[in-house]
Amino acid sequence: MNFFKLWELSKEERANLFQRTQVDAAELLNAVRPIIEEVRQHGDAAVVRYTRQFDGADIPVDQLKVRPEEFTQASTLIEPFIRAAIEKSAGNIRAFHQLQKPEPFWIKEIAPGVFAGEQTTPIDSVALYVPRGKGSFPSVMLMLGVPAVVAGVESIHVFTPPLPDGTIDAATLVAADICGIHHVYKTGGVQAIAALAYGTETIPKLLKVLGPGSGYVTAAKRLLQGVVDSGLPAGPSESLVLADEQADPYLTALDLLNEAEHGPDSSAYLVTNSLDVAQRALDFLPALLQKLPPQRKAFCETVLSGHGGIVVTSTLDEAIQFVNEYAPEHLSVHVRDLFGVTKQLRNAGEIILGEYTPIAACNYSLGPNAVLPTTGYAKTFSALSVRDFMKTSSVSYLTKAGYEDLREHVIHFAEHEGFAAHAMSLKERKFRTDGKAQSE
Ligand code: NAD
Repeated sequence: MNFFKLWELSKEERANLFQRTQVDAAELLNAVRPIIEEVRQHGDAAVVRYTRQFDGADIPVDQLKVRPEEFTQASTLIEPFIRAAIEKSAGNIRAFHQLQKPEPFWIKEIAPGVFAGEQTTPIDSVALYVPRGKGSFPSVMLMLGVPAVVAGVESIHVFTPPLPDGTIDAATLVAADICGIHHVYKTGGVQAIAALAYGTETIPKLLKVLGPGSGYVTAAKRLLQGVVDSGLPAGPSESLVLADEQADPYLTALDLLNEAEHGPDSSAYLVTNSLDVAQRALDFLPALLQKLPPQRKAFCETVLSGHGGIVVTSTLDEAIQFVNEYAPEHLSVHVRDLFGVTKQLRNAGEIILGEYTPIAACNYSLGPNAVLPTTGYAKTFSALSVRDFMKTSSVSYLTKAGYEDLREHVIHFAEHEGFAAHAMSLKERKFRTDGKAQSE
């Protein structure tokens, strides 16, 4: 288990803490390129072939799309308490995202006769990628589906890998149904991203794809930039737990394991200025790990001895600086002055405050979106939101007075930049006495 005292580390060792799992990007891109090309050329046939190869599922072309009876069957397969959990979470996620939805239209007079504003409209069509490799993710279905529906996207299509028996995770289907989304395809990975980017006989060509995924999915999105918009980069999960001397070490240890159990490529650190909290949290970990199933325990152990562990800083300010430099996907804050410290936090996909707020509650049920920028992208990207499913046009309008006020300035600008037609469009602009433009 990694246990670092920041003041003892060399510059290089300190820099290493900010690294996430290194993937051989060139190797991934080389693996992904031919799959994309095959899907572009052969459409559904290639999608079916790769779904057989990578997911072990033999799915006839006419069954790639989930049929209505499969939704009905899925709802009989899940326990009532799972349905209740999905419904409860969907309610909170919907409430949060409705509050987040931008005004469809606003315009203001910013100078006499000069009106400017914005009109925000949904994207026409989107793809939602719900991963299924190391687990099934009905929660990701909700986190993608609810904002897409709240945004008003008309054409919403879901892609998720099938199990070898050709079925889709029942809870994910129920979550899609609760969102009101019924275009679901039993294919994932590179073949899904290529299919939705180019379109196939069964899968429509879509404008944007959102959702987290494995290195293969991320590499496919990267190669298909320009063919399909792939939004925020959401890769392997990661978290920081920020704690001061007031923190409960047991709770910080619990929250530390939350993201570490995602997979061996995840990252998770407890960062604290208290050597005592750090040492006691470390002491709790072995017993907590023993309570996990073998695979999750192994993932946590890999992470906490690789891209994770405990970092002790000299001061709380230094711990905060560490957080801002790391820019974690999830940040759990266990300090006395929660809101005072929050004001100093600049880079984090989400900020989770206090000991009653487990990261897990935010992953599933609290309301804000849990699809977040990873690998340090929280420095420039935001949490997934309704705005990712919309776009904004600016709206401009001049009255006669506003036009006359700007006229000379615009002509001078245009002439300075050498745009003669720009300048002419004002110089030669003539108006009828009733204020309308003259046709000759
Ligand atoms: P995935 O669906 O992204 O990937 C599985 C697919 O990868 C398979 O269906 C297959 O098509 C493809 N694949 C597998 N091996 C391949 C190969 N050799 N060549 C080409 N394609 C291959 O599911 P996953 O693997 O579980 O990855 C999900 C990722 O998303 C994890 O890293 C997880 O941490 C992350 N995640 C993030 C969030 C978030 O909100 N940021 C939420 C959930 C999961």
